[in-house]
Amino acid sequence: NMQVSRPPLTIRLCGPRGFCAGVDRAIQIVVLALKRYGAPVYVRHEIVHNRYVVEGLEAKGAIFVEELNEIPAEHRDQPVVFSAHGVPKSVPEDAQSRSLFYLDATCPLVSKVHKQAMRHQRLGRHVVLIGHAGHPEVIGTMGQLPEGTVSLIETVEDAELYQPSDPDNLGYVTQTTLSVDDTAGVIAKLQERFPNLTAPSADSICYATTNRQEAVKQAAPGCDLFIVVGAPNSSNSKRLVEVALRAGATRSLLVQRASEIDWDSIGTIGTLGISAGASAPEVIVDEIIEAFRERFDASVELAITTEENEHFLVNRELRDIELTRE
Ligand code: SF4
Repeated sequence: NMQVSRPPLTIRLCGPRGFCAGVDRAIQIVVLALKRYGAPVYVRHEIVHNRYVVEGLEAKGAIFVEELNEIPAEHRDQPVVFSAHGVPKSVPEDAQSRSLFYLDATCPLVSKVHKQAMRHQRLGRHVVLIGHAGHPEVIGTMGQLPEGTVSLIETVEDAELYQPSDPDNLGYVTQTTLSVDDTAGVIAKLQERFPNLTAPSADSICYATTNRQEAVKQAAPGCDLFIVVGAPNSSNSKRLVEVALRAGATRSLLVQRASEIDWDSIGTIGTLGISAGASAPEVIVDEIIEAFRERFDASVELAITTEENEHFLVNRELRDIELTRE
């Protein structure tokens, strides 16, 4: 018998992981819109940052565009959905001027950040947004206020160098998917320099980001490898890779599909951590665990730090349609 026995492997599977309430809602909105209005349903930007989800919706009749002018005139009566990341105010305005029918799938927790930014401004504060330049959520939050009235701070160095014109009248908000620890450092630096800096009335980093980072932090110490299921453009997933490394995982990888794993580079491992970003479907987590089971004698331990019960209702127009979950 030439069969080589598979080496033992302990898999620490983090929970909470994967889909958050905002992603689940955004996907439901597209599925329900397809049921109610028929194909095609246009979606501005990837509804959530995951190719597998996007391709699944495309197969059902969704068409993804980056800008509204890509929607052909003859499809003007079909709905266009705005992604979970939120959009600048100019986007619904543009939709209206083109007589487009839109459904906004912006996560309610992103909308909350938009409201906080507007509130700071209404109360005479200059808005400081802590986030990553170019991310659609940052573009959306900055676009709630007139151009030039929001300052973007990405790092502690930015916070050190920032020269506001009215240092006593500043209010901050953050992107929802940042590193909890890095953001605390940026805020501490800003507070040290600007003692009158006003915080938003509720944390901008969302529950899903916070819980996924905490679970990874607990599970990562002692892991020879930590896999985060997620896309390279998913902010919250990239943060989980950083958290895993900082918490003591020897190596950490962001993986979109099992087929991407370079098995030669995996080498000898005894403990593997697994988590998934807020936009990563559970079927891919299963696929990756199966791929390890084929090569290792794997046992899965659950590493659960908290339970989540969040659920967000879909847009009013779609609430009466029954959703058949697959
Ligand atoms: Fe909403 Fe947070 Fe999910 Fe983003 S990660 S969609 S803010 S719940």
